[in-house]
Amino acid sequence: MEVVEVVKAFPGGVRALDGVSLRLDSAEFVGIVGPSGSGKSTLLHIMGTLERATSGTVRLSGHEVGDLSDRRLSAVRGRLLGFVFQQCYLTAGLTAVENVCTGLMYAGVAAARRRSLALAALERVGLAARAGHRPHEMSGGERQRVAIARALVHEPALVLADEPTGALDGANSAGVLALLRRLNDEGTTIALITHDREIAAGLPRRVEIRDGRIVSDVRPTAGSPA
Ligand code: ADP
Ligand code: MG
Repeated sequence: MEVVEVVKAFPGGVRALDGVSLRLDSAEFVGIVGPSGSGKSTLLHIMGTLERATSGTVRLSGHEVGDLSDRRLSAVRGRLLGFVFQQCYLTAGLTAVENVCTGLMYAGVAAARRRSLALAALERVGLAARAGHRPHEMSGGERQRVAIARALVHEPALVLADEPTGALDGANSAGVLALLRRLNDEGTTIALITHDREIAAGLPRRVEIRDGRIVSDVRPTAGSPA
């Protein structure tokens, strides 16, 4: 995944991104940090093709996003990407397993297989026992784990997470981070926006953004002396 010289201007003249270039290699785990309003979410949305850039290039697994129709883009997104947000956006009337199934809607999976894949994803996040529960019957941490199961059920190459621990207490936050780490160990590329300094400091690569520009991009552990 790569963005090159991306600008995002909103009506009214706000330049949320002002020439951002960033490349994520396969199986990287990148933390994105920066003050509120600096453009982090906008960058993640553009990387995830949820929004189009005003100018610049976005490449996703060999596709140049600007060249794709909305329909093709939805298909590519559905196959390659998983999203996790601060709010989990589960559907209130659906059980955990049904919510996870919605992550397969664009992946071309036959209905009969969806449920077994969804159950396997819930198992991976430690929630097999909650498969039949609805969101209001679960804790905030459990709901976020359901949302993560939904994001990973189609085995995306890239998971984009925007403050997924922002609404959780310490223990639940650590659980969500551990899940993301495991996913990364299994080969999934992860971009994680976080306000949590401790989480950011523990990641192998950290990109800092201010006023719509990348001001630092460091790999604290790579090549550092013993
Ligand atoms: P962050 O996630 O770092 O807090 P955002 O990417 O949400 O920052 O926002 C960056 C800037 O773009 C802010 O000034 C914000 O107000 C502005 N912005 C974001 N989305 C929109 C929008 N849909 N319309 C107008 N301005 C927006
Ligand atoms: Mg944000």
